[in-house]
Amino acid sequence: MVAVRENLEGIQADIEQAAERVGRNKEDIHIIAVTKYVTIERAKEAVSAGITDLGENRNEGFLAKYEEIRDRASWHFIGSLQSRKVKDMIHQVDYIHSLDRKSLAKEINKRSQQTVLCFVQVNVSGEESKHGLAEAEVESFIKDLAAFEHIRVVGLMTMAPHVDNPADTRPLFKKMRLLRDHIQKQNFDHAPCEYLSMGMSNDYQVAVEEGATHIRIGTKLVGKEQ
Ligand SMILES: *Cc1c(COP(=O)(O)O)cnc(C)c1O
Repeated sequence: MVAVRENLEGIQADIEQAAERVGRNKEDIHIIAVTKYVTIERAKEAVSAGITDLGENRNEGFLAKYEEIRDRASWHFIGSLQSRKVKDMIHQVDYIHSLDRKSLAKEINKRSQQTVLCFVQVNVSGEESKHGLAEAEVESFIKDLAAFEHIRVVGLMTMAPHVDNPADTRPLFKKMRLLRDHIQKQNFDHAPCEYLSMGMSNDYQVAVEEGATHIRIGTKLVGKEQ
């Protein structure tokens, strides 16, 4: 497999160019290395290569890697999260990207003694197979989260459909940005909603052009080995 460092350099160069095309600052774009397909060793290699943020989509993988790496990285939970599993990971995780229902918010709020930074997941494409709230539900959902003292909505997250031409995802990413702007403008105390978690191996350049602050990259950065 290609060294993570080498992949990272290519991705950083792409990000820099994409940011420059639209007048954004590359420092505002965080790369989350998604390590769900790879070993703990490969995740450690990513950290040694300069990655500061790691993402996992299942409790088991998350906890196994967390045990070995701990505070050498910030931890992002990016997969759909079952309420009954919240208690096992809530003290280890730094960001949850998949808040998509009130029952989950309630459980997070109950199990944590401190503020949990969350992204609200939006199903912006409307595909049935995708998790997340419909665009029209997002604002009232976020308003209702004010009832949960430990939840802070730092942004919105989406997974775009996989398409052959990444440019086809642009309208969806743009919709996400406008929705983020709309929520952010309301200055909710519990929901500053400044971030946009969107863009994966296939479409991160378009996502950066459309305002992504957190891109989640697995295959293209650390590869796939499991
Ligand atoms: C797997 C996964 C990614 C990374 O996907 P790649 O295409 O391998 O970059 C990003 N976000 C989520 C939510 C994922 O499950």
